[in-house]
Amino acid sequence: MNARTEQQFRRRTDVLGGSTFGAMLQEFNVAARLLNLDSGIWKILTHPKRQIIVSCPIQMDNGEIEVFTGFRVQYNITLGPAKGGIRYHPDVSLDEVTALAAWMTWKCAVAHIPFGGGKGGVICDPTKMSRREIEALTRRYVAEIIDAIGPEKDVPAPDVNTNDQIMAWVMDTYSMHVGHTTTSVVTGKPIEMGGSLGRREATGRGVMIATREAAKHVGIDLKKTRIAVQGFGNVGSVSAQLLAQQGARIVAVDDWKGGVYNEKGIDIEKLLAHTGQHRTVDGFAGGDPLPGEKLFGLDVDVLIPAALENQITMENAPSIKAKIIIEGANGPTTPDAHRHLHERGVFVVPDILANSSGVTTSYFEWVQDRYGYFWTEAEVNERLERKMFEAFSEVLKTAIKFNVDMRTAAYIVAINRVATVTRMRGMYA
Ligand code: GLU
Repeated sequence: MNARTEQQFRRRTDVLGGSTFGAMLQEFNVAARLLNLDSGIWKILTHPKRQIIVSCPIQMDNGEIEVFTGFRVQYNITLGPAKGGIRYHPDVSLDEVTALAAWMTWKCAVAHIPFGGGKGGVICDPTKMSRREIEALTRRYVAEIIDAIGPEKDVPAPDVNTNDQIMAWVMDTYSMHVGHTTTSVVTGKPIEMGGSLGRREATGRGVMIATREAAKHVGIDLKKTRIAVQGFGNVGSVSAQLLAQQGARIVAVDDWKGGVYNEKGIDIEKLLAHTGQHRTVDGFAGGDPLPGEKLFGLDVDVLIPAALENQITMENAPSIKAKIIIEGANGPTTPDAHRHLHERGVFVVPDILANSSGVTTSYFEWVQDRYGYFWTEAEVNERLERKMFEAFSEVLKTAIKFNVDMRTAAYIVAINRVATVTRMRGMYA
């Protein structure tokens, strides 16, 4: 195990006094100030609506009972049901899940879909758990939060270390409790049981579209770009694959265990075959090993952080040479590092826009489940392309109008949409 890269892929708790929610607030406040947001709405939008903490006792394979702590936060449900993934990771905390739930609120508003923002997480290390233990934990976690979720209330989805099989268990547990099959309680399910075609690839597809549009804006030919990708999970791998198909050159990929560099461009299909077998890019023969922390400083045009929060900090931001950063992960850049990059003229497409196609396609899945009628993959992708293009254009237009960076512009669009409906609905009691 390469300790340095493992450290790199741990959630960085040494920045911002450990508060990821603090980072979200800093970003929010910049945009709220520019909007002259009234103080009442400001207060509402900076407080999570509901935070649930549960204990999940599980009998492990060795017969011992372990108790896992789980969270579900519904940050804001003004525009519709809370929406957001469930992550399994040893570093999950209430602070992190609250920040991620807030980001889902702004993401759904930027994507212009009728959802609020939520997020869930369980403190665990799924790489050290058996399939049976993961299933038991999933079912117990869902049972513990069952009153809070539902198609009209809160609709979970996959996130870091969770996948379609886990979503199938979420759907089954909920359905068993309510007494009938309820597909629309969760998205990112297997296709056979109400999942949407294109959902698995959706976040990566959106990252590809964002990269294409950003390259157009900055004036670089996508086919001539050299790209480095941090993380090779669902987001990083599909982004790399689709960008390579567009003719871009993926020169570096890094994950929790190791990295690979190939000046001529990595053969992503071969890398996928390797990771399918070994669960890491480490040891891939189609390039040179890339030591941890080297990826950010590479001489590339585009950098795609697609791992965890707080990866680009003031420690490594000054070494970044890329002209474009596309945030595939949620919260990968700290506010001070972002300011530094913007001042240096780096074009950063923020998480709440860049990775929004995942939740947009979750919305399509929810619509199809409720309608009971399913679209072709071409229909899903065509609608996704349109939604992503509209969101990108709206944020870019706002950035030009207010003369601000794309992150602040995305917050302006999102806050405006949520604040408008909050005012229209008025105060209850
Ligand atoms: N976990 C994804 C995200 O952070 C998707 C959430 C969803 O589809 O609800 O955007």
